[in-house]
Amino acid sequence: MPIINNDAEHDPNRILPIDYDWAREYYEAGVDNNWVPAEIPMQDDVSQWRGDALSDAERQLVEWNLGFFSTAESLTANNIVLALYEYVTAPECRQYLLRQAYEEAIHTDTFIYCCDSLGFDPDYLYGMYDRVPSIEEKDEFVVDLTRSIDRPGFTLDTDEDVREFLRDLVGFYVIMEGIFFYAGFAMMLGLKRQNKMVGVGQQFEYIMRDESLHVGFGVDLINQIRTENPDAWTAAFGDEVRDLLTEAVELEKLYAHEACPDEILGMSSEQFAEYVEYVADRRFEQLDLPEQYGTDNPFPWMSEQVDLNKEKNFFETQVTEYRSGGSLDW
Ligand code: FE
Ligand code: MN
Repeated sequence: MPIINNDAEHDPNRILPIDYDWAREYYEAGVDNNWVPAEIPMQDDVSQWRGDALSDAERQLVEWNLGFFSTAESLTANNIVLALYEYVTAPECRQYLLRQAYEEAIHTDTFIYCCDSLGFDPDYLYGMYDRVPSIEEKDEFVVDLTRSIDRPGFTLDTDEDVREFLRDLVGFYVIMEGIFFYAGFAMMLGLKRQNKMVGVGQQFEYIMRDESLHVGFGVDLINQIRTENPDAWTAAFGDEVRDLLTEAVELEKLYAHEACPDEILGMSSEQFAEYVEYVADRRFEQLDLPEQYGTDNPFPWMSEQVDLNKEKNFFETQVTEYRSGGSLDW
């Protein structure tokens, strides 16, 4: 069965036999990672947040990241259900999209849980993109990439249509989940390493573990579409994707500088910028495009903990590394 744009010969309600084993493996890995935010105690976070454990800069960092992620998770969920699901027709891929949509609901629930336990004003949290220009720019950047497939009557008839679709996939899987999330992950995990906002940090760890599967699935989906539609991904389109990613890196670096203007947590905005370049180079590799930065990872503890490594080794190690149930032993 074709991965997108199914023909009349194939029944989209028949998942067996499975054509794309990798999609099934991502589904199983997602199930093995099951968690819900209410499992994570927030008492220490609440007393730190109410007390004077955090500097003003650290408080701003927490607020900005909760603000950015709360909107971004919802944008991602809506993109799956309202834009992608119709066109990704292979049943095992749709099964993964349903799983991912559920995980995005868990992530949305995480920000409800954080907002409630820390006592945020919802208008303040969910209006963050309106007040912080670098957050608004990130959101608008990915939403712009998906406008053409959002228009009524869009179909995948021509190579140009498939390119429009690939642009959406690059925008959400590679840029939003694969680049725009990562400075925030590093900031929140950096705080947690200093025993600050440990409950929120642990929730970000769980989210990051989920997101690394989302990015992996998205990249494999993109690459399978390229294989099946060899004329869609032209050299010119490869250049366009490279430019989109480098533009996204600049936006993410701007966000890092604004969210972390001074050296806090023993980490500087310069290091966050380097980390964003390092992560973006991994994305270029995954898309078979040349590395653009050659920057070393300034936070080696992120890849130990996080799992850029596990992303890379996914098919070598199979899913055993993920079989940790709800626990976080990497
Ligand atoms: Fe998510
Ligand atoms: Mn996601």
